[in-house]
Amino acid sequence: MTLADPFGRKVTGLRIAITSRCNLSCLYCHREGEETGLSGRREISDDEIVNVIWAGVDLGVKRIKLTGGEPLMRADLESILERLPENLEISLTTNGTHLVGRAQSLAEAGLDRVNVSLDSLDPLVYSQITGGTEADHHRVLEGIEAAVEAGLVPVKVNMVVLKENEGEVWDMVNYARDRGVILQLIELLDLQGRGIGGDLSRIEEVLEGRAERIVTRDLHRRRKYFIDGAEVEVVRPIDNTEFCANCSRLRVTSDGKLKPCLLRNDNLVDLNSADREETKRLIERATLLRSPYFCEGRKPYR
Ligand code: SAM
Repeated sequence: MTLADPFGRKVTGLRIAITSRCNLSCLYCHREGEETGLSGRREISDDEIVNVIWAGVDLGVKRIKLTGGEPLMRADLESILERLPENLEISLTTNGTHLVGRAQSLAEAGLDRVNVSLDSLDPLVYSQITGGTEADHHRVLEGIEAAVEAGLVPVKVNMVVLKENEGEVWDMVNYARDRGVILQLIELLDLQGRGIGGDLSRIEEVLEGRAERIVTRDLHRRRKYFIDGAEVEVVRPIDNTEFCANCSRLRVTSDGKLKPCLLRNDNLVDLNSADREETKRLIERATLLRSPYFCEGRKPYR
């Protein structure tokens, strides 16, 4: 069974924001495209998360990404993971401040791998970007090591490239090589148009010059550079028609709605605590509402 939208794009992944709560306040955060400031928002329940994943798997979903908010704010995450089907790739995107002490239990509960956000190796810059403390920064670095030790591999370190941290890219490449993790350089979605994004095109030119091998992944046509033992992946969604053309995921919001596109909130489908059979129908309906945001002739999202 394979789900496909009206543009022939298969849906093989679910990206689920399991909470909107977060202990940091990253200055660039897109909050997974969710509308903010809505009062009385509920939080998706453990049963809804489990249900939507099982229903997705019935329909051919193979990959789950758990995100937030900060997903480790949920104390029931391990018990949710224990209720999920096997033969599924389950990964988590976290700010890493609560990974130490949980990496092992998450791995035992069935989590396969993690992406850890780390925008700077300098505690001061980290603090300016995320609002976190020096102690938080230290915990993230320890958390990355704990994740590697627990086998949540490959661990990917997510760095959103900003003017503030673009000078650190090569330190991050060296850090990734030394720790045996993959560095993901992410282009900023500058939703408020503040002009704080770094120059990823210039960085990619240098990566191209130094790489001994370059591979393009199917997922969103991401380019991966192999440089002297380091792996660096570049994620560039902005005005990228190929990014949309290769999108294979459906999103679920932290208040329990299927979300066909990161950049739209006008076509959500409420899960409404539906049972597994009904959830399947809702997933099919949301899949039919998918359309590529960046496509020929369309204006950029701004
Ligand atoms: N709290 C978790 C974390 O920090 O990783 C998960 C939620 S966060 C919204 C998920 C990912 O989105 C992070 O890797 C973050 O760097 C990325 N992200 C957030 N806002 C972004 C933006 N405006 N542009 C590009 N990436 C962004």
